[in-house]
Amino acid sequence: MKTIRLMTCESAVEANIIKGRLKNEGIECFIANENFSNLMPNYNNIMGSGAQILIRENDLELARQTLEMEAKKQLVCPQCQSQNVKISLGNNKIRKLVIIFISLITATPFNNINVNYICKDCQSVFK
Ligand SMILES: [Zn+2]
Repeated sequence: MKTIRLMTCESAVEANIIKGRLKNEGIECFIANENFSNLMPNYNNIMGSGAQILIRENDLELARQTLEMEAKKQLVCPQCQSQNVKISLGNNKIRKLVIIFISLITATPFNNINVNYICKDCQSVFK
């Protein structure tokens, strides 16, 4: 059984909250890199560091749906007030690299590279 990374969290606390949500759905998961993320919080969420939630590959779809449902409960689109919002997970490594590159040449800190949310109604992206 292959293990894959579902997402990287800003903190071990957040990772544990998400772990709890996944366990409620019967999804087995564990957190990697938890101690490092506590010691070096500024480096979290950059290029795969930070507290990582690992799940079985077979559970990926269910896990994403679970997190999207959680997001819908809490999030409202700032543009159209729609609650039809999903988390933009994964595949933003290039975007992260661009942000890191820009922050290096402008000498600004890159503490937070957050997960984005996408409104399914008006397609606007927000944090
Ligand atoms: Zn919207």
